[in-house]
Amino acid sequence: MNKNDIIIIHGTNYKEMAIQVLERADLASQIGERTKSVALKPNLVTASHPSNGGTTHSELLAGTIEYLQDHGFQNLSIMEGSWVGDNTQSAFSAAGYREVSRRYNVPLIDLQKDSYTEYDAKGMKIALCDKVAAVDYMINMPVLKGHCQTTITCALKNCKGMIPNKEKRRFHTLGLHKPIAHLGVIAPSHFILVDNICGDLDFEEGGNPVTMNRVLGFIDPVLCDSYVCDCMGYSADDIPYIRMAEKLGVGSTDTAHANFIYLNEDRGGKGEIKMTRRVQSLAKFTVQKDACSACYGSLIYALDRLNDSGKLQKGLPPVCIGQGYKGQSGEIGVGQCTCGFAKSLKGCPPKAVDMVAFLEENWK
Ligand code: SF4
Repeated sequence: MNKNDIIIIHGTNYKEMAIQVLERADLASQIGERTKSVALKPNLVTASHPSNGGTTHSELLAGTIEYLQDHGFQNLSIMEGSWVGDNTQSAFSAAGYREVSRRYNVPLIDLQKDSYTEYDAKGMKIALCDKVAAVDYMINMPVLKGHCQTTITCALKNCKGMIPNKEKRRFHTLGLHKPIAHLGVIAPSHFILVDNICGDLDFEEGGNPVTMNRVLGFIDPVLCDSYVCDCMGYSADDIPYIRMAEKLGVGSTDTAHANFIYLNEDRGGKGEIKMTRRVQSLAKFTVQKDACSACYGSLIYALDRLNDSGKLQKGLPPVCIGQGYKGQSGEIGVGQCTCGFAKSLKGCPPKAVDMVAFLEENWK
């Protein structure tokens, strides 16, 4: 796998999807010696079930561990330190990780209880947990979701769980962006397996999940977070820590030259999409007929951006989306299924950032 590769898989069998992404990335060859220690670093910001949109699904851990054990890796661990004010042990239980740990005989490591050492992260001193620094290969497993302070959160910010609580507090006093960028210099993040199943609209602890039913694979954490911006209707310039990390040499924001590897097509779209009241308030501006999850989720994120800028108003014609519109005509739609409409945005699925631009120009 190359640094500019982005692997994408759709579906609802999350464990199998994780395995397929790791097979395509040929992760075993990337890790090398079977004796190496490999850690899984999920996002367990708080004690909450992954269906709420804040934490990494246990199925992705199960698939990753099965893949690694099948390829002869035995020195495995799951490590995380929840946010200040929550308890990692409770978070392990709430997300179903104890069952995964028991089933595969892989230990859970609470980084809130770990010792730490201070490192120079290109001009900024940052303390990193000792067990994190001792790992040979780190699989970063963030949730793609919104964040009330940094706007988005994924690969780079998930590394904040690798530092002690006193350092997390200091990061907040420094405004988060600069320290998160510098943390990217020292935090190990060799492969990134993104939980893009149902991340939250705008809060890292969850509460308003947006169904996307995707798992993504990256080598480059900056490319990962830049792609997340595309998926949620932002630009990398909207999120200061992403550009800062690029300048520090952590990775590239160049999604225009990324190599997209699609392992399948998103052809879900028949089931009911569960929504909280907040998501429903955005969905009322749409009419969907058999929309694929990632397509519809992208539209929800795009509508949230338009809502942020005060552009959602009563009386707008509904935006049509979904396979049920193939071959039909209509007023306005997004995705190639609505190509017969008077106004239609190409793409299958189109990115949220493109939906925002299209709707700003054409939705009257
Ligand atoms: S354009 Fe149609 S087929 Fe393509 S992702 Fe959207 S709903 Fe699915």
